[in-house]
Amino acid sequence: MLTPGLIPNKEPMIRVGLILPEDNIHSIQISFSDTQCFEIETIDRSHPSFENSDQLSLRIVDGNLVIPELKFKDTVLKIIPSISQDDLFITIDGILAGRGFHWEKKISASYWGILEFCVSNGKMMAVNELPLEYYLKCVATSEMSAQCPPEFLKTQTIVARSWLLANIEQKHRHLGFDICNDDCCQRYQGMGNCSEASIKSAEATFGKVIMFEDKICDARYSKSCGGITENFENVWEGDPVPYLISVEDVDSKGTAFCSPDIVPEESLKSFIGNVDEKGQYFLWTFEPTQDELIRSLKNKHKIEATEILQLKPEKIGNSGRIIDLRIDYKDIQNNLKSIAIHTEYEIRNIMSPSFLFSSAFSVKKNENGNFNLIGKGWGHGVGLCQIGALGRALNGQSTENILNHYYPVSKLKRIYSS
Ligand SMILES: [Zn+2]
Ligand SMILES: [Zn+2]
Repeated sequence: MLTPGLIPNKEPMIRVGLILPEDNIHSIQISFSDTQCFEIETIDRSHPSFENSDQLSLRIVDGNLVIPELKFKDTVLKIIPSISQDDLFITIDGILAGRGFHWEKKISASYWGILEFCVSNGKMMAVNELPLEYYLKCVATSEMSAQCPPEFLKTQTIVARSWLLANIEQKHRHLGFDICNDDCCQRYQGMGNCSEASIKSAEATFGKVIMFEDKICDARYSKSCGGITENFENVWEGDPVPYLISVEDVDSKGTAFCSPDIVPEESLKSFIGNVDEKGQYFLWTFEPTQDELIRSLKNKHKIEATEILQLKPEKIGNSGRIIDLRIDYKDIQNNLKSIAIHTEYEIRNIMSPSFLFSSAFSVKKNENGNFNLIGKGWGHGVGLCQIGALGRALNGQSTENILNHYYPVSKLKRIYSS
């Protein structure tokens, strides 16, 4: 696993969680690009190649991993390519994409490197171990599509590499991997999403990261800032970060780079990754019903409300994102009560059963008692604005200019070479 704070002087191996215990996956299908070039290693023996079985089914039975085709039953198993070749890969059917979001679905994805399966509290877990640069060949085009211009793909690759190596969040360390394969960390849908363009952008930026002083930048990013980015400390706990400060995302005429005026909605569809929701992401409206908000308060805060009276933003960040929201409501005894909702994440979680686009919204109460949220942007808005960066690349800006804009005071540097 990556060591926090360490700047690697050669390409490191990374561990990516593909199946998490919370996914509750009981069975998957695995197939191989070439059955003779992989070995299965278990605790006490290895099964060199498995001719005649180009597809294996892996199930959880009574706390064990079971492969009926190989009469295999154990709690740990590794599938290892026996020769190093770029065209060797393993395909898994039944991986979750969009975990926990309303666009969650099961996909089939192919992976370079080693696949490790184990059982954690009776649940299946899978980890993909591979060289970082191979992982990066897949990330830019899992996050966005391969149709994006090269300067954008290079930017996204450097940002993904920097964020990963800065290794600040470490959300999954207790499970034994560096990052997961989804929006919680970085979206990674395997090598099937690679294209000539994404491979080129990884090769062209090999080992390049953005740095501030002597540390790799914790390069946060989100889909659309809505016209101005947010300060780090308004979204996460901790001190301000000098390169994660609010900047305007507009051209000389004041037009936002992430707006449909620069990236038209129609063409955006071809640039956005294939599991994303299509829709009005830059400016949007959403009308949660009284019932939905009452249910949300009950499910998420165990509050029994009978009517929501007011949604009152109490603290708003530079980008317009609400950081503290007060909700006034009537309880079951008809008392007037209030609850304060802190963090943009929790506000988005409360406002919509399927997670609101962003917390940058204003509130209007309708005659029918429902609230109309008029919002902008998609995501937390800190650091790189992906659609804004795309707009800049489409307008001829270079990778270096784009990075300088969203991460002021950072420096682009190559920390290892091939
Ligand atoms: Zn994660
Ligand atoms: Zn933007």
